[in-house]
Amino acid sequence: MSSEIHRPVLCREVVRLLSMAPTGTIIDGTVGLGGHAEALLEASESLHLFGIDRDEAALALAEERLARFGERVRLVHGDYCDMAGLLALTNPGSTASEERVSGVLLDVGVSSLQLDDPERGFSFRKDGPLDMRMDPSAGRPASAWIEAAPETEIAEVLKRDGEERYARRIARAIVRARERGPIETTSALREIIHRAVPRDYFAQSIDPATRTFQAIRIAVNRELDNLRDGLDAGFDLLSAGGILVVVSFHSLEDRIVKQFLREKAAACICPPDLPECVCDKKIEVEILTRRPITPTPEEMAENPRARSAKLRGGRKVI
Ligand code: SAH
Repeated sequence: MSSEIHRPVLCREVVRLLSMAPTGTIIDGTVGLGGHAEALLEASESLHLFGIDRDEAALALAEERLARFGERVRLVHGDYCDMAGLLALTNPGSTASEERVSGVLLDVGVSSLQLDDPERGFSFRKDGPLDMRMDPSAGRPASAWIEAAPETEIAEVLKRDGEERYARRIARAIVRARERGPIETTSALREIIHRAVPRDYFAQSIDPATRTFQAIRIAVNRELDNLRDGLDAGFDLLSAGGILVVVSFHSLEDRIVKQFLREKAAACICPPDLPECVCDKKIEVEILTRRPITPTPEEMAENPRARSAKLRGGRKVI
């Protein structure tokens, strides 16, 4: 059953924050297998949910799971960055600028459905084609990126998006290996990484390939840029009093969310040396999570995917 494939992370907190939203429609920009969506729909009978995912396989499972809620649910395949257009498309007669929503949820990252399927190529633990696309119908697979990216770009991505200590060594090894032939499988890439790093790197608690795989996944799916665009898109669509909730799984993502909320919550963004305020900035958000909310030890024990999760939320005030 789909509900066992992927457990929704920080579900109670997500529902608690979004229950503070005015009555209306909530956009779940990463509906995935519908775990959070189901909990939200169960918590309030007046809630309508507009769910988006760029993974059609996940969406098909969400559709099954949420069928019992009938017309309260609309699901669509697409990128959450385009949520305004997608919302308008499914609601003929309205334009993107007309329909406002009472809440927006983004639970970014990969689903267990994606991670556990060797054919999707997300995991080095199982051999499969080196793909890693959340939407296999769009963009280029990871193997094509690895084939074409200059060595400096590979090193930069591994360092920036994977915080990989041996980024340059691994990038060099990848470029040497691809000169001998294309790198097309997850195990081939893992092997290259294992041979490139020093032996003592194997003593740490994670596999030496973890950070490289994470970095390539983030780059292939443009995850950080999408998050920035998605926050803007979601915020624009919220009505006054609407609630934005984001669950992220990576320190770089959490930083983007934190900075976004801080900027919106600031009363003035003038340089500190100006004698008086000239920016005319208004407070746009009330931050609902002074510190990010993290899972309890019990949730982490039950669901390893929850380990790095951080949740932040805000209420739009204008
Ligand atoms: N909240 C869901 C799980 C979400 S997992 C649940 O409880 O079941 C994250 C999902 O986000 C994945 O299915 C992934 O395909 C989707 N996703 C990631 N980036 C996306 C984007 N830019 N647009 C739409 N969906 C995205």
